[in-house]
Amino acid sequence: MSEEHCDCLFCKIIAKEIPAEIIFEDEQALAFKDINPQAPTHFLVIPKQHIATINDIEAEDCQTVGYLQLVAARLADQMSFSQSGFRTVMNCNQHGGQTVYHIHLHVLGGKAMGWPPYQETLKTPVSE
Ligand code: 5GP
Ligand code: ZN
Repeated sequence: MSEEHCDCLFCKIIAKEIPAEIIFEDEQALAFKDINPQAPTHFLVIPKQHIATINDIEAEDCQTVGYLQLVAARLADQMSFSQSGFRTVMNCNQHGGQTVYHIHLHVLGGKAMGWPPYQETLKTPVSE
């Protein structure tokens, strides 16, 4: 791990400095169970390359970032919920709800998801 990313939680999981329930690993990507699952199955797929946010993706990263979706689909298939369906989400910055600044694809499955993903109460109330 380079010094630049030594404070990154997910770089520490990649380096096995912090434990995680790893379900897939190769040279490019790592997948592990989310510590606070929001669906019967909830895991994260991350690139081994540190990219902080979607805004930091460069053209040369497109294969790496697209590969996360392929890993998600393959794992969903292995876990037998690819046909019933699932959701992948990548949050960006504050309004997107990002809390860990190393891009990660959430994969949520095992039940039907709702839409839209925001609460009506977040809208500005009508003034009296
Ligand atoms: P974000 O809010 O950035 O889109 O998603 C971060 C996700 O990482 C959250 O769903 C959170 O539960 C998960 N997470 C945070 N810390 C850890 C950890 O130490 N281990 C694991 N496995 N997941 C974590
Ligand atoms: Zn990182």
